Amino acid sequence: MARILITDVTIFDGSGREPFAGEVLVQGNRIAKVAAGGFPSGTAADRVIDGCGATLMPGLVNCHGHPTYPNMGADFYSTGELPVEEHVYRTMHNVKAMLDAGFTASVNGSSAKTRLDIATRNEIDAGGIPGPRMRAATPEITVTGGLGDLRQYHMHHEGFAVVCDGPEEIRKFSRLMIREGADSLKLMISGDFFVHDTATGDMTVMQEDEIVACTSIAHIHKRRVIAHARTAEAVKRCVKHGIDLIYHANFCDEEALDLLEANKDRFFVNPAIGLTYTTLYEMADYGMPQEKAEEWGFKRELDGAIAVTKELHRRGVRVLPFGDYGFEWNPVGRDARDLELWQELMGFSAIELLTMATRYGGECFGDAVGLVAEGYLADLIVVEGDPLADVRILQDTDRIAMIMKDGAVYKEPRERQRQQAAAE
Ligand SMILES: [Zn+2]
Repeated sequence: MARILITDVTIFDGSGREPFAGEVLVQGNRIAKVAAGGFPSGTAADRVIDGCGATLMPGLVNCHGHPTYPNMGADFYSTGELPVEEHVYRTMHNVKAMLDAGFTASVNGSSAKTRLDIATRNEIDAGGIPGPRMRAATPEITVTGGLGDLRQYHMHHEGFAVVCDGPEEIRKFSRLMIREGADSLKLMISGDFFVHDTATGDMTVMQEDEIVACTSIAHIHKRRVIAHARTAEAVKRCVKHGIDLIYHANFCDEEALDLLEANKDRFFVNPAIGLTYTTLYEMADYGMPQEKAEEWGFKRELDGAIAVTKELHRRGVRVLPFGDYGFEWNPVGRDARDLELWQELMGFSAIELLTMATRYGGECFGDAVGLVAEGYLADLIVVEGDPLADVRILQDTDRIAMIMKDGAVYKEPRERQRQQAAAE
């Protein structure tokens, strides 16, 4: 097994402890040893990478990735109308953009076409295209009239969701997707303010027997269920039925907060504030002026998300940044902006945020990722500068000097790039 020694780095190991100077030895696809200070001179390695004083940290983990969202408009029709062939290429570009941005793992939040997530995960795992390691999701399973149902009574339209009503339809689709290779099943339990008027973000549209139809199948087959759950009632249904990755949760009431706190070792909450923020303040050029966004409920949604996220963190529930990038005004690859938004809007410290972005993300991903620690998978990034002094550094892909996934160097360190350029 090849041994790669990374020298002269300041290590942020993801655990939450302060960074320290040291060296890391990678053997095969795992981290063999982390040495504070450094290894004895003459430590054997097939290759030495000089970190030149940069920061080495775990690759970022996105627990709400949407690489199959093709960065299109808010009417959602364009996504459904995108033919599958073009959609595959868009997705390939997106997974590359995620990895280029330092995200080495992604729990995907849903797939915009039935098998697109699954096929993309398989192609990445087979080494055919670059991308993060992924948990592949089903499309959004929604109810008639819920978020993602774009049909009209007189005309069929494809969207980014699959409409299922009643336990029978949901059971059948859940089984089908498990057969096809999905790691996670995604339920739209609440509505959303993008569905103006009929299934808004403060309505709980999926009924309990429908939820149970999915969770009972998923749990038999040891698959994860993920929920779009904005309302307090939707969050309570998640807790009750063992849906451990909850998106949004922005209208939690006291009872929902208490339930999450009482089960904090089981649940992860991903508020996905970036999409709400950009929809409210930065979408005017894409058909949503701020007054309209406020009227539709996005200001309430953001205020709720800020209050709930801070409160959950205070109570020790693992909250996760990133998520819901994949739209024209909030595209894939820009997820690291969440770190800046979370700091500005909620006052989290950089070390808290980077711990959420790595260790918590890894715990949610469910494999040995998210820490620079012995035995962990070698998913590492080297960042020029100190992201703990300024989290915005992570938005600049130029400053991500090296990216390693599964022990293989995906982005060569700058010195090596220069040597290669000189040799050509
Ligand atoms: Zn989402």
